[in-house]
Amino acid sequence: MKRIEWDQFFMAQSHLISTRSTCTRLMVGATIVRDKRMIASGYNGSIAGGDHCTEKGCLIVEGHCIRTIHAEMNALLQCAKFGASTDQAELYVTHFPCVACCKSIIQAGIKAVYYAKDYKNNPYAIELFEQAGVIVKKVPFDHEILNDGLLSKQQMLTSITEAINEEGLPEDKAQSLLQSIEGKL
Ligand SMILES: [Zn+2]
Ligand SMILES: [Zn+2]
Repeated sequence: MKRIEWDQFFMAQSHLISTRSTCTRLMVGATIVRDKRMIASGYNGSIAGGDHCTEKGCLIVEGHCIRTIHAEMNALLQCAKFGASTDQAELYVTHFPCVACCKSIIQAGIKAVYYAKDYKNNPYAIELFEQAGVIVKKVPFDHEILNDGLLSKQQMLTSITEAINEEGLPEDKAQSLLQSIEGKL
């Protein structure tokens, strides 16, 4: 059995935690890793016990939702709260960090940032990461690795396709039938 690569494993963790986000504008997840161990994770959401954007709507000031703490910051603060050193740790995040998070990431001693999606990649953040010698690398997340039993589903699709073709259905009918099945896999 082929095991999942580390990069994809930690990126999967960040994508999973992003589903806990309470801000409807963007769902972000971050995981802090040291020596291949996850030491903290965070998603963008309100302070503990505070109102959620999902219930009260976003609190927009100058084009930004100020209600939430960003995922990267929440992960770093979790380390502060529970006393885990972030020095020389690595960060896996679903989206490219904003300038404020970038500065905190550098200051916390994070040595590498792996992000899955470009998001308003700020030139100043890029410059600061460079100056600080932080490794910044895009690691697109392959969602298919979480698709349980993908191989057997693909084999099933092949046999369904063959069966449909044998029926001699009109081309467009066969196509739409196959597409609807494919969407379910
Ligand atoms: Zn919000
Ligand atoms: Zn941020």
